[in-house]
Amino acid sequence: HFGVVVVGAGHGGAQACIALRQAGYDGSIALIGDEPDLPYERPPLSKEYLQRDKPFERLLIRPASFWLNRSITLMPGVRVVAVDAAAQRVRTAEGTEIGYDWLIWAAGGAPRRLGCAGTELAGVHSIRTRADVDRLEAELATTEQVAVVGGGYIGLEAAAVLTRLGKRATVLEAQERVLSRVAGEALSRFFEAEHRAQGVDVRLGATVTCIEGAAGRVTGVRLGDGTLLPAQMVIVGVGIEPAVAPLVAAGAAAGNGVRVDGQCRTSLPRVFAIGDCALHANAYADGAEIRLESVQNANDQAIVAAKVIAGVDATYDAAPWFWSAQYDLKLQTVGLSTGHDDAVVRGDPDTRSFSVIYLRRGCVIALDCVNAMKDFVQGRALVVAGARVESALLADADRPLKMLVP
Ligand code: FAD
Repeated sequence: HFGVVVVGAGHGGAQACIALRQAGYDGSIALIGDEPDLPYERPPLSKEYLQRDKPFERLLIRPASFWLNRSITLMPGVRVVAVDAAAQRVRTAEGTEIGYDWLIWAAGGAPRRLGCAGTELAGVHSIRTRADVDRLEAELATTEQVAVVGGGYIGLEAAAVLTRLGKRATVLEAQERVLSRVAGEALSRFFEAEHRAQGVDVRLGATVTCIEGAAGRVTGVRLGDGTLLPAQMVIVGVGIEPAVAPLVAAGAAAGNGVRVDGQCRTSLPRVFAIGDCALHANAYADGAEIRLESVQNANDQAIVAAKVIAGVDATYDAAPWFWSAQYDLKLQTVGLSTGHDDAVVRGDPDTRSFSVIYLRRGCVIALDCVNAMKDFVQGRALVVAGARVESALLADADRPLKMLVP
C-alpha cells in the first residue's frame, strides 16, 4: 500500500512525483512503469537520440539518486492491468495487488497501428520508447530506403534525421499537406519545401494499402494508386491511442481519452489522470474537450494533480506550448491554432526565420515560430490575453510583439 500510486513513469508520472514532494506531500509514493528504464525524456527519441547525438544517460529526467533521496519507490518493468476504484487498488500483469490512497494515471498512449496487412513484418517500426529506437537503430546499417508513414511532427523529425544519416526517406502523408492536424497551411508548405530541398521524397494524398514483405521482412509499401515503394524499413507515425483501458474498465468516464476536470480528477473517486491520455476542457481550444500531446501539458497537469493531493488549490489553465526540431530549424508553438479563421505570416520564410500568427474572430490564439525565439517568448502574452490586434501590425516584423500586448 502506498499513499500515492502513479501509473506510467514518463513525463507526467515523473513530474507528478517531483511535484508531490515539492508541494510538501510526505506520504509514500510508488512510480510504476512498464518500461525497464528510469524516467526519461521522450522528445529526443526522434531527434538527438535517433541521430546518436545524445547518449541515453543524458535523456534521464533525474538521476537514480534523486528518486532514492526523496523516498520515491520506482517500480520499472511493471504493467498495471486493472484498477479497482472501490477497493482503492491496482493489479499488475503478474497479479500483484497494490493499494493506494490516491491514484494518478499517467500512462500516455500507444502508437496507433495501420489498419492494413503487413504491419507485423520485421522492419516496421514506431517511435514511442527508447526500446523502439534501439530496435530501429540496430537495422539502420542494412537499410537504404525508409518509408515514413505520416507527415506529423514525429514522422518529419525522423525523416530529417534519417536523411542526415544518409538514408533515402519518403514521407507518405494521406492529407494534402504535412502537419495538417496541428498547423496552418503556410507552415505546412514551408516544411514540405524544406524536406524536399533536403532530399526527402514527400508524397501528399498518399494512402498505404499494404506493407509488403518477403521471408518475414518488409520489402516495400503498396500505395493506393497501385505503386510499390521499395523500402527496407517502415516507420509509422500516425498518432497514438490513449492508454486508458484499465480505467475505462473500472468505469471512468471516457471519450478519446479519460475525462478529467480542471483539477485533473477522473470520474472515479481518488483517481487523477494527466498527460497524453487525459481528455480535458481546454480554455485555449475555446473550451472544447481535447487531449494534448506535449511535455508542457504532461508537466503542468502533473503539478495540478500533485498540488490537489497535497491539499493546495490548483486549476489547470496553462497556455499550451510545444517545440519540434528538424534540420537546423527550431519550431516553437504557443497556443492552439485549431479553429483559426485567419493566419498572418510575420517575416520572410525564405530567410528561415519567421512566424505564423493565428487569429480567431480577430483575436490572437496561437503562434508557430520558426527560428524566431523572440516572437515565441513575446507572443505568448498575446495568446494568454487573447489580444485583438490588426493583421498589419502583427505582420510588421520590425515591430516587437511585446509592443502589441494590450
Ligand atoms: P508518456 O511520457 O508516454 O509516459 C507514459 C508511460 O506509461 C510510458 O512509459 C508507458 O510505457 C507507460 N505505461 C503505459 N501503460 C502502462 C500500464 N498499464 N502500466 C504501467 N505503465 C504503463 N512533446 C513536446 O512537447 N515536444 C516535442 O518535441 C516532442 N517530441 C516527441 C517525440 C517523440 C518521438 C514522442 C514519442 C513524443 C514527443 N512529444 C513531444 C510528446 C511528449 O513526449 C508526450 O506528450 C509526453 O511524453 C506525454 O507524457 P505522459 O506522461 O502523458 O506519457
